[in-house]
Amino acid sequence: MGVPCEGSPRGSCAKAMNGGHVWIVGAGPGDPGLLTLAGQRALAAADVVIYDALAPAALLRHAPRGAELVYVGKRSGAHLRRQDEIEMLMVERARAGKRVVRLKGGDPFVFGRGAEEALACRAADVPFTVVPGVTSAIGALAYAGIPVTYRGMATSFLVVPGNEADEGGASVDWSLAAQAETLVILMGMRTLEENMRCLLDAGCPPGRPVTCVRWGTRADQEVLTGTVGTIAALAAEHGLESPAVIVVGEVATLAADLAWFEPGPLAGRRVVVSRTREEESDLARRLESLGAYVVEAPVIVTRNRPENVDTHCVEGCWDWLVLASPNAVDAFFAALRTAGLDTRALHGVSIAAVGAATEAVLQQHGVRADFVPSRATSEALAEELPRTTGARVFLPVSNLSDSRLSDALRKRGAKVQQVAAYEIVAEPLDEQRLREIREADLVTFASATAARFLRAALGDRDLPPSARLVSIGEQTSKVVVECFGRVDHQVDDPSLDAVVTSLQECLARAP
Ligand code: SAH
Repeated sequence: MGVPCEGSPRGSCAKAMNGGHVWIVGAGPGDPGLLTLAGQRALAAADVVIYDALAPAALLRHAPRGAELVYVGKRSGAHLRRQDEIEMLMVERARAGKRVVRLKGGDPFVFGRGAEEALACRAADVPFTVVPGVTSAIGALAYAGIPVTYRGMATSFLVVPGNEADEGGASVDWSLAAQAETLVILMGMRTLEENMRCLLDAGCPPGRPVTCVRWGTRADQEVLTGTVGTIAALAAEHGLESPAVIVVGEVATLAADLAWFEPGPLAGRRVVVSRTREEESDLARRLESLGAYVVEAPVIVTRNRPENVDTHCVEGCWDWLVLASPNAVDAFFAALRTAGLDTRALHGVSIAAVGAATEAVLQQHGVRADFVPSRATSEALAEELPRTTGARVFLPVSNLSDSRLSDALRKRGAKVQQVAAYEIVAEPLDEQRLREIREADLVTFASATAARFLRAALGDRDLPPSARLVSIGEQTSKVVVECFGRVDHQVDDPSLDAVVTSLQECLARAP
């Protein structure tokens, strides 16, 4: 299958019927560096990635461009029907011959329903591989400077679910838990008070140290320290919510000497990154690595429209194929494939790519660009494209592209056919995202389109008055003012470094 087989149980590679296979991969607790190499390899070969809220979104970049990414959301207490749907989706895709990665937070076999998912594969006769991950029960604590065992202090540790009362599952033996040298509670924030009461009732001393580590290993990690008697009130006071690992025991005191990890300078800040296309999530990832909580809104999807691309007249009809974005490349090749053609159809056609990113994607399709302008802008492309007089130019773009590029090429004597080879569509915002947007400290707009998308997705709701609205470029600012009535700051240099520095300054000034 050309995919990772190491660690595959029961020779599953050989067993695959049509190449369909499921990898149940532990994503680790949050720091993207904590994915295993086996996990990374599985992602790199995936046709489909099914992931949830605890799996770090930054890991999706290991998946190939064009892989289907399915978010199955909901952070806590995914109830049965939902779980059924996930399993069905996984099995269906694998049966269709797809390589499916089911990416799960922490380790898939630690309270992660990974075993249920593996059983669903087994029942459907779909071959699967389990790739273990760093569990938050150990990893999140390690990033807070807390070892789960320590000579002379704790020779064992016990991990229990704190929410078992809701789940109707086997109940935790709290008398055993009260005696554990190190007790680790997962999924216990919402029921923190009850959990601590259970421990006290079972004879645990109220002064026993407790530490909660929220979003452990991420740049926005938060740590709260107390005792069995005080932690619930402290957590309520500080508004510390799920997801957190709770550790009860002497080892918690070691953090005083062992804490080593510094959360990023933007920890605790919420930033909305309004998007128009996938590439812009680079900004989101950079802000996350500085500790910001990033809300990407709205969710943008691109859909290829092969029916709009008349591929039959490629050869002999066009002198230039001009590709102005990586998406345009993918959409064009999707159309070729749909028409039953391949790269041979491009014989005799010169190909221009707007910049290095577009050229790289073109190369992934096995084709070299004949021309790349000196700057990666459509203006430079229009100015510098050679042999335009009388040339027939084919220009596949998105449904949102205007006619500036084709007008400029026409001015230089070309005959241009522009087609909407793909669509960019904003998905409506769900309740969780709307809530997150209401709590934003800052909202960024990378383009006029991003501003219009967010405006449309919000419907008649407004952005919070306390949020700073930051736009990139003058043109964007105008549209942000049209859509939201104000702009608080404009960044003029669109490079990622400059934008990130500017946003940091804005957040430093914000209350
Ligand atoms: N399979 C996961 C656990 C899933 S249960 C693992 O091995 O880590 C979900 C619980 O895991 C959350 O309620 C929280 O208690 C814990 N958790 C997961 N990621 C976390 C993180 N980065 N920081 C703190 N707790 C985390």
